Amino acid sequence: MAEYVVKIIDAGFVTHDVKRFTIERPDGYTFIPGQGTDVSINLPNWRDKLRPFTFTNIPKADYLEFMIKIYMDHKDGVTQMLSRINAGGELILHDVFGAIQYKGPGVFIAGGAGVTPFISIFRELQRTKQLPGNKLICSNKGPTDVILNDEFQKMLKDNFINIYTRQNNIGFLGRRIDRDFLVEHVSNFGQYFYVCGPDKFVSDIKALLFDLGAEPESLVIEK
Ligand SMILES: Cc1cc2nc3c(=O)[nH]c(=O)nc-3n(C[C@H](O)[C@H](O)[C@H](O)COP(=O)(O)OP(=O)(O)OC[C@H]3O[C@@H](n4cnc5c(N)ncnc54)[C@H](O)[C@@H]3O)c2cc1C
Repeated sequence: MAEYVVKIIDAGFVTHDVKRFTIERPDGYTFIPGQGTDVSINLPNWRDKLRPFTFTNIPKADYLEFMIKIYMDHKDGVTQMLSRINAGGELILHDVFGAIQYKGPGVFIAGGAGVTPFISIFRELQRTKQLPGNKLICSNKGPTDVILNDEFQKMLKDNFINIYTRQNNIGFLGRRIDRDFLVEHVSNFGQYFYVCGPDKFVSDIKALLFDLGAEPESLVIEK
């Protein structure tokens, strides 16, 4: 397995618990938007603790970027340690992997930090002027959990839909993605559906989409 030691150029929180890392890009290291790699921290006792994260930059960029949700309650977890690692620190990257990639216009449905593969995809679609016909639905606990809200809003306008599962978010839909929600926001179940998030989120959405007529071949998920 290849290993690439890379320096962190910049790091900072983009929401209360999601941290963006901009890092050096090893020569010749390429990926398709939607893909990621196993990452560890280049410190004693941490080098062998690999966790998967998805690149959020466009492939053409000179740097690599991750958006990482920090779990302070995961005792001795890698993300908890990453909350304390900043510019000048080093990460170890490994081989690129991942099944999520753009296949054509469709509906992207993300649960929480599951939006990360879609960040690189949408940024690349914007660069290549292919945004029309694509829609992004993000489910989060509340508005303060949305990753890159302003960027998506600007890019997608009415085709960016937030749904909040926590109660009492005045002015916003306080609900989960269910059959009625999909019928309301999706007019065509014959297009591509890209789904990413916690395992239970993906399996629930998958079941709803199949029930509404989506075909297994049109579903793009992480394997
Ligand atoms: C293909 C893929 C791509 C991904 N890309 C991204 C991405 O781009 N951005 C992102 O933010 N995430 C991403 N993830 C999720 C990310 O990999 C995990 O959030 C990360 O591995 C968590 O690592 P951790 O060491 O902090 O915690 P874990 O490895 O989950 O847990 C560390 C320890 O904490 C304890 N623990 C675990 N769960 C709990 C809990 N609920 N309560 C208390 N203690 C607990 C356990 O003792 C555990 O051993 C991706 C996942 C996959 C599969």
